[in-house]
Amino acid sequence: MKELLKKILVPALTSSPVSALAESIFGRGIPVFMIHRMAVEGQSNSGISSDHLRRCLRYLTVNGYTFVSLEEIILSLKNEIALPEKAVAFTMDDGFFEQGSVAAPIFLEFNCPLTFFVITGLLDKSLWTWDAKVSWIIDNSKKNYITVNFGDEKLNIALGNKKSCTLARENIRNFIKEMDAEDLPRLINRLAEAAGVAVPEEPPSCYRPLDWDMARELESRGVQFAPHSKTHRILSKLSRQSAEEEIIDSWETLERELSDPLKIFCYPTGRALDFGPREIEILKKENFLGAVSTMPGYVESRESFDNNFYRIPRLVVPDNMVDFIQYCSWIEYAKIFR
Ligand SMILES: [Zn+2]
Repeated sequence: MKELLKKILVPALTSSPVSALAESIFGRGIPVFMIHRMAVEGQSNSGISSDHLRRCLRYLTVNGYTFVSLEEIILSLKNEIALPEKAVAFTMDDGFFEQGSVAAPIFLEFNCPLTFFVITGLLDKSLWTWDAKVSWIIDNSKKNYITVNFGDEKLNIALGNKKSCTLARENIRNFIKEMDAEDLPRLINRLAEAAGVAVPEEPPSCYRPLDWDMARELESRGVQFAPHSKTHRILSKLSRQSAEEEIIDSWETLERELSDPLKIFCYPTGRALDFGPREIEILKKENFLGAVSTMPGYVESRESFDNNFYRIPRLVVPDNMVDFIQYCSWIEYAKIFR
């Protein structure tokens, strides 16, 4: 019922006269969207399709929105530039091959600035990330049920069908997000053993990373690259020294490999608990312009943003147009459907 109501009401509520009136009452936040995987034929990774991304960008173009970069948003918060009306920004996280080969060209096609946060270890081909390994193990296990003993914990995981695999992926990731990040390799080994899956040294094709040549080519065409750590481990679960290395090493690698990287950080997994005052202090000390999280929300006006450039909220690009239009409009900002 709620979905049906939304389908009927969202187009009416986002028409120009209604929007103008509502925005004068509720105000308007600036959406910073984030994209992860793109759906690619023949690959099992879930993600949004090229057609859907094009539809979203076309909607914004014909409805009077102005694409701005994340850098411009931060500079406006620091009072250095003014933003146009109806500004919207896009970011992409991680550094997988199809993000560079499929998604980035679509943003270029629409002249939409894109900030691409990359895990530098992935592009260096020195690792594939723990979250990708968890998904790989679950997707390739032939077992219906596994038990993993880890420390005092006993994880009972059902894998029988697609639904239980999705739930298992969530549960294991949530468990990992609470544990000491230095213990990760041990847990991944236990999980692989219990699932009867061999984890290859090199990432399989569905987790193929972007390479530096491709990053340089995209940079020359206007994509801005920025650091998203070296290994994607959760910073708040690391020692101070390791957290510092994740931030500084990833920035130095970008500086070495590219001509003009952007000094804005993206926290791995990015929830409120995944970083804290310690990480913000390191970023300030290292003169980062700001940092983005995955906490949902809008960039508010300068006055209410409280000078906090180090926990910028973002919105996931939803996989359907009704939600996307709602997220771009005053409706989501005023949260009337919540
Ligand atoms: Zn990430």
